[in-house]
Parts: sequence; structure tokens; C-alpha cells
Amino acid sequence: EPVIRTVDLTKIYNNGGVPVAALRGVDLEVQPGEFVVIMGPSGSGKSTLAHLLGGLDSATSGEVWLDGRRLDTMSESARAVLRRTKIGFVFQFFNLIANMTVADNVELPSLLAGVSPREARERREELLETLGLTERADAAPSRLSGGEQQRVALARALANRPSVLLADEPTGNLDSRNAQQVLRLLDKVHKSGQTIVMVTHEARLASLADRMIYLFDGQVADDAPIEPPGRRT
Ligand code: ADP
Ligand code: ADP
Repeated sequence: EPVIRTVDLTKIYNNGGVPVAALRGVDLEVQPGEFVVIMGPSGSGKSTLAHLLGGLDSATSGEVWLDGRRLDTMSESARAVLRRTKIGFVFQFFNLIANMTVADNVELPSLLAGVSPREARERREELLETLGLTERADAAPSRLSGGEQQRVALARALANRPSVLLADEPTGNLDSRNAQQVLRLLDKVHKSGQTIVMVTHEARLASLADRMIYLFDGQVADDAPIEPPGRRT
């Protein structure tokens, strides 16, 4: 069964009385373990799609399914639970809690999801290790570089072992060195089996993914596998 499925997904914003069609009949499926990148020009609907897939916003019509459960018709409170437990979000801005340490930022989602303190601590230690943050565990987020802060945001997003990691321009605020590092970690997380959907407008970021969906004017204009660079002829 696919992790994500949309059926005829449509989103029309009411922009001060003027309807703006951001998505027009999007059908897609994401299979377990896939790394899908969503590309397309500015204004093509990428962020809107990511927000609908994550249950952050509601569609005008159509369906959104996550793990075989229909998201778009759920109550807001049921959807909030799903967002906290089944979906990991990483955005351009890190949104870390400033007055909590790195370790506490990473641990919080597990505690909020009702995981035992001991299990939450174990997950935290493992994630800090995987993302190369062990030495920063006790620091305040403001003491970290942008790249490190995004790694903390990534660790936090993975804390509840989400069915899908949704990343919206995760390197948009980073210099190229830090962006490379975050991408390397996304690759590592993907290779460990994590399903990832990443929105980006930068073509060079797509090479890590298995598949690219190209949006144009709110519609899927292309949906194709990406060949690993080594195998291209
Ligand atoms: P992208 O992420 O590809 O740049 P968006 O999903 O942000 O595209 O936007 C798609 C279209 O929807 C654009 O025309 C944009 O102006 C419009 N739009 C996005 N968000 C809103 C909103 N909150 N209110 C009104 N229009 C919006
Ligand atoms: P953009 O899509 O232009 O990059 P942001 O990523 O800052 O903008 O945020 C887009 C939307 O996602 C905002 O409306 C915000 O409410 C929501 N959002 C941002 N960060 C988080 C987060 N960590 N958790 C939940 N929602 C978020």
C-alpha cells in the first residue's frame, strides 16, 4: 500500500475575492521507502501540495491518504495527532524552541506523543549520533550554525519514526557547504528506509531522489524516475 496517495487534489485560494487555483487535479502515489522530489517554478503549487500532504491545510476538493487513512475528511484534532506521530516536517526555517537545549528539542516530539521518557531518551541519543550532533546536545539552538540548526530540525522531525518526512526547501536558508551536509544526511536517512517527499526549486538537489514530480501551474507535468548519476550514459 502506498504511504501517500492523492486523488484529483484541488486547492483554490480565495485571494481577496479572486480565486487562485494552486493545485488542479493532482493524482500521485508515493511508495514506502521512496525519495520523491517535487520540483517546478515558483508559484506552481509545490508548497501548497506539501502542506496538504502534511495535513497542515485543507483541500478544496479531492482526497489525501496517508498509510491507508483518509486525511482530508478527518477532524482537525485527529489530523493533529497524525501530524505529531506519522509525519515529520522540515522547513526552510528551523523553528527550534529557543529556550530549550538541542537535546530537549529533539526529545520533545516523543514525549508529546506519549512515548516513555526512557524510550524518548534513547531515540534522542540515537538521532543526535546519526546526525552528528552529540557534542551539541546541551547547547542552545542560537549557539549553532544554520546547518547545525537544520540538522536538529531533521532529528526532531524523525523522532517519532514518521511514515513520511516532508521537507519544504530544507536547504533554502543555508550556504552551499551546509546545504551539502544536510543533503548528505537526507540521503543517509533515505538509505535507512525512510520515505521522503522533498520540495525544492533547485535542480541539483534532485539527484539524490528516486523520482521527480514536476509541477507546472498546479498540475503534474512530469513524473519520472531519476537515474543515479553513476549509471547515466
Ligand atoms: P510554490 O511553492 O511552487 O512557489 P505555492 O504553492 O506557494 O507555489 O503557490 C501556488 C499558487 O497559490 C501561487 O499562485 C500563489 O500565489 C498562490 N498562493 C499560495 N498560498 C496562498 C495563500 N495563502 N493565499 C492566496 N494565494 C496563495
Ligand atoms: P515557505 O513555505 O514559504 O517556505 P515556511 O516554511 O516558513 O514558508 O512555512 C510555511 C507554513 O508552514 C507556515 O504557514 C507555517 O505555519 C507552517 N510551518 C512552518 N514551520 C512549521 C513547523 N515546524 N511545524 C508546523 N508547521 C509549520
